[in-house]
Amino acid sequence: MAGFNRIEDAGDLTGKTALVRVDFNVPMDGGRVTDDTRLRAALDTVQTLRTSGAKVALLAHFGRPKGERIAEMSLAPIAPAFSKVLGSPVSFVGDCRGDAVKAAIDALPPAGVILLENTRFHAGEESGDEALAAEIAALGDLYINDAFSAAHRAHASTAGVAKILQAYAGKSMERELDALDKALGTPETPVLAVVGGAKVSSKIDLLKNLVTKVDALAIGGGMANTFLHARGHSVGKSLCERDLSDTAKEIEAIARGHGCDILLPRDLVVAKDFAANAANRTCGLDEVADDEMILDAGPQSVAILATAMDVANTLVWNGPLGAFEIEPFDKATVQAAQAAGARAKSGKLVAVAGGGDTVAALNHASAADDFTFVSTAGGAFLEWMEGKALPGVEALKS
Ligand code: AMP
Repeated sequence: MAGFNRIEDAGDLTGKTALVRVDFNVPMDGGRVTDDTRLRAALDTVQTLRTSGAKVALLAHFGRPKGERIAEMSLAPIAPAFSKVLGSPVSFVGDCRGDAVKAAIDALPPAGVILLENTRFHAGEESGDEALAAEIAALGDLYINDAFSAAHRAHASTAGVAKILQAYAGKSMERELDALDKALGTPETPVLAVVGGAKVSSKIDLLKNLVTKVDALAIGGGMANTFLHARGHSVGKSLCERDLSDTAKEIEAIARGHGCDILLPRDLVVAKDFAANAANRTCGLDEVADDEMILDAGPQSVAILATAMDVANTLVWNGPLGAFEIEPFDKATVQAAQAAGARAKSGKLVAVAGGGDTVAALNHASAADDFTFVSTAGGAFLEWMEGKALPGVEALKS
C-alpha cells in the first residue's frame, strides 16, 4: 500500500522516545515463552529506532484480561525473553500510563528499551478510550505501529495514540502492508484467489469482496460443498451449509458480473468416517453416496488448480482445500501449496497467504518458506481480505 508513513520519514530521532505497539501475545507455558517468533518479528523495528538514537517504549497486550489486572497475563516475563532476543537489556514497568511509567522511561539510557505492562489491564484499551490514548501518548514523542495482527481493532494503543502523535508503520507492519498491496491493492494480473476452510458462513464478506477483485476464485474445503450443493450436486453427509444455497448463488452471480471465474472441485475424495486413514475413494461430482462425506478434492481438481496457478501472476490464499489435519485428506492442500510455492520460488508468482489454519496448512506442506509472504495475523488478514478498512492501518496513512 502506498501512502503510509514509514520510520525513515521520521527523520533524526536522537533523544526522542518512540512508543512502539508490538504483538507480544506469544505462547507461554508456566511463565516461559515457548515460541519467540513474535519477539523476533519486532527486532528490526526496535534496532532501527535505537540506531537512529531513540529510546523505545514497547506497548503490547497479552490475552484477554478485559480491563482487569490478572497476574498470569502480566507482560513481566516477556521483558527478559525479549532482552535475550535483542541481546541488550529490556526493562519493565508495571503500567502503561502515569507518572511512574514516565519516570521509568526518562531514566532509560540513550537507545534504552522498556516494556510497558499489558495495555488490556485498562478497560479503556479495548473501548478505544480517548483519555487513555492521551495518557499513553503523553509518554512519547512519536508512535510506531508494528502489530498488523491488532490493526483491525480501534483500540487506544492501536488507533487512539496514532491520532495524537505522529504515527509510522514499523518494519514488520511495512512488510505486511507492502505484501498485501502486491496481492490485492495493485497486483500484477491475472490474480487467482484460493479460499478453502470449513464454512461459507464465516467467509461470506470475504468471498463477496474477492470476486469483485480477482480474475479467478478457486473454492475448496468444506465450503466448496455448499457451492456444489447449490449447483444441484449430491454431497451425501458432507459438511454443507444447505441454508446458504442462495448466498452461494448470489456470490456466483456477483462473480459473473465482475468477470471472475469460479473454480469448484471436479473430482472428490470421499469417506464414510471423519478419521485418519479412513477407507476412501475418489469419485466424480454426483457420485457421492448418501452415507459418504467429501473430505478432500481429487487429483483432477488439483491439476486444474495448478494450471490456474501457472497462468496467474498473483495468488492470494486462505484456508485448506480439505480436512488437512487427517491423512490422507491433506493431499490436495499439500500438492496445491507445493505447486504455488514452487512457482513463487522461481519468481513467476507473487503468492501471499494468511488467516487461521492457513499457516499450519502451508507449514504442513513445507511450502510456507517458498511463498512470497505468509501473514500470521488471523483476524486482521481476514478483515483485509474482506476489503475492510483497518483502523490501525488507516491511522498510519500519510
Ligand atoms: P477455516 O478455519 O474456516 O479455514 O477451516 C479450516 C478447517 O476446515 C480445518 O480444520 C479443516 O479440517 C476443515 N475442513 C476443510 N475441508 C473440510 C471438509 N471437506 N470437511 C470437513 N472439514 C473440512
